[in-house]
Amino acid sequence: MAASDPDCLFCKIVAGEIPATIVAEDDRTIAFMDINPATRGHALVIPRAHARDVHEIDSEDLKAVAASAQQLAARQRARLGADGVNLINSNGPAAWQTVFHFHMHVIPRYEGDPLKLPWVPSQGDMQDIAATGAELAR
Ligand code: AMP
Ligand code: ZN
Repeated sequence: MAASDPDCLFCKIVAGEIPATIVAEDDRTIAFMDINPATRGHALVIPRAHARDVHEIDSEDLKAVAASAQQLAARQRARLGADGVNLINSNGPAAWQTVFHFHMHVIPRYEGDPLKLPWVPSQGDMQDIAATGAELAR
């Protein structure tokens, strides 16, 4: 398994080559804020090791991503007041995947929020994203 793909956007985030608002990390995963948030607090959990999708990801990495997503969902509830959460993972263009490094969306939901799925990504306010990331980070 290739640990890193030099052409992959999320591998560059793992390597610290492009900036991201990281809110959690462990040996196998990192979690960071989505720059086009579907709701306030939308974050992504990825394996450090490059894998395109659910078919390629190492099963231990998949478990680690799930555990990290669970912890993040708890923090979104405790710290952001989320009433619900969508965990969404898309595999292949036919399933809406646009970045080809496995990722789990952790999208906090708020009673009555206007989000409809699939959402149409639009650039978030970077100051708001950074502030919300600081609330979620350890
Ligand atoms: P998907 O469409 O499921 O492949 O999701 C890709 C997600 O990555 C989208 O929600 C994008 O907003 C997000 N994204 C793309 N580039 C970045 C970036 N540099 N930092 C954070 N999130 C990103
Ligand atoms: Zn990658």
